[in-house]
Amino acid sequence: MKLSKLASEITVSPTFALNEQARLLRERGEAVINLGIGEPKNKTPLSAVLASAAKLTSGEVKYVAPDGIPSLKKAVICYTEENYNRRVAPENVIITNGAKQSLFNIFYSILNPGDEVIVLAPYWVSYNQMIKMCMGVPVVVTPGDGTFTPSFDEIEKAVTASTRGIIVNSPNNPSGVVYPPELLEKIVNLCEKKGIFMICDDIYHKLTFDKTRAIPAYHFTQNDVESSHIIVVNGVAKLYGMTGFRVGWVVAPRELVRVMTNVTVQITSGVSPVSQAAAEGALTGVQSMVEALRLHIQNNRDVLLQEMQSFNGVRLIEPQGTFYALPDIRAFSKDSVAVSQFLLQKARVVVVPGREFGMEGHIRISFAGSVNDVTEGISRIKWALDPASTGEIYIGDKRVVRDWL
Ligand code: PMP
Repeated sequence: MKLSKLASEITVSPTFALNEQARLLRERGEAVINLGIGEPKNKTPLSAVLASAAKLTSGEVKYVAPDGIPSLKKAVICYTEENYNRRVAPENVIITNGAKQSLFNIFYSILNPGDEVIVLAPYWVSYNQMIKMCMGVPVVVTPGDGTFTPSFDEIEKAVTASTRGIIVNSPNNPSGVVYPPELLEKIVNLCEKKGIFMICDDIYHKLTFDKTRAIPAYHFTQNDVESSHIIVVNGVAKLYGMTGFRVGWVVAPRELVRVMTNVTVQITSGVSPVSQAAAEGALTGVQSMVEALRLHIQNNRDVLLQEMQSFNGVRLIEPQGTFYALPDIRAFSKDSVAVSQFLLQKARVVVVPGREFGMEGHIRISFAGSVNDVTEGISRIKWALDPASTGEIYIGDKRVVRDWL
């Protein structure tokens, strides 16, 4: 069969294979713990449920404006003013099918074939694939060993005449690191100086721990949204645990939003008004659940740190945000895909290989789920990997003997 070369080159993610194996094991009644998935377990906020239900019961579920319904755009404008201290116009906002489509549409709208986007490792899996799908070239900047924060000098060195943007995801999936304000300030200045975009994937910006805060890039420029070169991506998936509604948004210069809107018209015609009503309900409803979710995740992070303390040989940089940790498992193996397979087979725990994120020798552990999953999952991982652990454990009601080194 003759298929598109570009589409065929989109890599199959080992995570999908692992998830599929985990699903089959679960169907067979195995007690699999999923520390792979980045999804909080909370219920949808009531204000979102009621708003979307009201939209449904109105019976008026029709095509809507491709860039988003005006009342949701207004809620995003208020959110931007409150959280980013920036007043933006409706023409600066576009609503998309999740932050994922925001990012794809941005790359599609700013890249010509061969144009480069700088991606900071460890990076979220989809960036490189999306850039390639838009005929662009991802240029990866990898931090020095033992840190997940890229050096500014390396970023600056990676800029060429073909660079169109730098994608910055802080708090970072998969490392949980929040970049220091000095680094962000330098990137903002670099982008303004070079006339390239700083694409801020802010999907985790409220999920930070202790005293750490994610300072918005806008904070470091006097320029307004039209001339600042900053593009902000956000959405309801992580903020409210509303992953299934598929609502994200972009705040950007109006010329870019205009082009992105034209692209949207031809591809999706916009986002379902039922989902948009839910997002508006969440943004305008009681906000206490955002803090409740943050506290739950922070507690899970503390439990994870506690559990990891007795894990001989594993090095962990403490996550300051998101719900991910990226421990260095090179003391056991350099092959993160093999380790992830091993953990699923022996301990029935799903984790994501660091190779996916440009960080081989690491595994990503999600602590978005229940505290029991975190405790039990990490103790199984320790049991399976640490040669100092001996004996047998129960996985569900199955007694398993550790008969490997
Ligand atoms: N950016 C990052 C860094 C993410 O982790 C995710 C979701 N895992 C997204 C974007 C996509 O979010 P959405 O579900 O809104 O498409």
